Amino acid sequence: MSEIAAGPFGAWLGAMRAVLKGEQSADVPCGGCAGCCVSSYPIPLRSTDRVALERVPARYLRMPADSAGGLARMGFRDDGSCPLLCASGCSIYSDRPQTCRDYDCRIYAAAGLLPDGERPVIRSRVQAWRFAMPTAVEQAAAAAVLRAAEFIRDHATLFPAAMRAGSATAAAVLAVKSYGLFEDAELAPGRHESAQQGVLRVIDAARAFDRDSG
Ligand code: SF4
Repeated sequence: MSEIAAGPFGAWLGAMRAVLKGEQSADVPCGGCAGCCVSSYPIPLRSTDRVALERVPARYLRMPADSAGGLARMGFRDDGSCPLLCASGCSIYSDRPQTCRDYDCRIYAAAGLLPDGERPVIRSRVQAWRFAMPTAVEQAAAAAVLRAAEFIRDHATLFPAAMRAGSATAAAVLAVKSYGLFEDAELAPGRHESAQQGVLRVIDAARAFDRDSG
């Protein structure tokens, strides 16, 4: 499999954390890949995703069960493709939903994970990404993200069910939010404490990250 440059790890990590804070959209060197548009992903739609809400055929749109919250969801065709994908690409690219703007499959590569389910196009892309890590700081951060993801996956059942830590996506996101705890392997969660105490530290770090988000 040929490798694909994912860019410098440090820059990616900073940008990914900004995306997770809602400060910017992802800027992914997709090239010709439209893996995330053909991989049977239900796309959450916010009320601000007006173009998608207007354009998606009704049979692919599931509105929230109640008006008190929750997001609409855009389904996918039988072949797994998004109903707004056409031969030339996304038919609403400049107005694509925020979920699509935020998606960056390099997060799986950073966390040493593959997306769940039958998603061969994305899996292949994830396996091809290669980050540049010219500095010791970047190498340490990359190792910390990997350690965080491994700890989270190993102890997924100790997290609240709502955090869905057993899913690759949620585990990768949690790892990016909490990796700072794992930079010193000797002091990492679970190292000199129970796994439950370590999990609580990860949860606290993730919640602090979310509180800091705009
Ligand atoms: S809305 Fe556009 S970018 Fe988003 S999944 Fe569909 S085709 Fe892809």
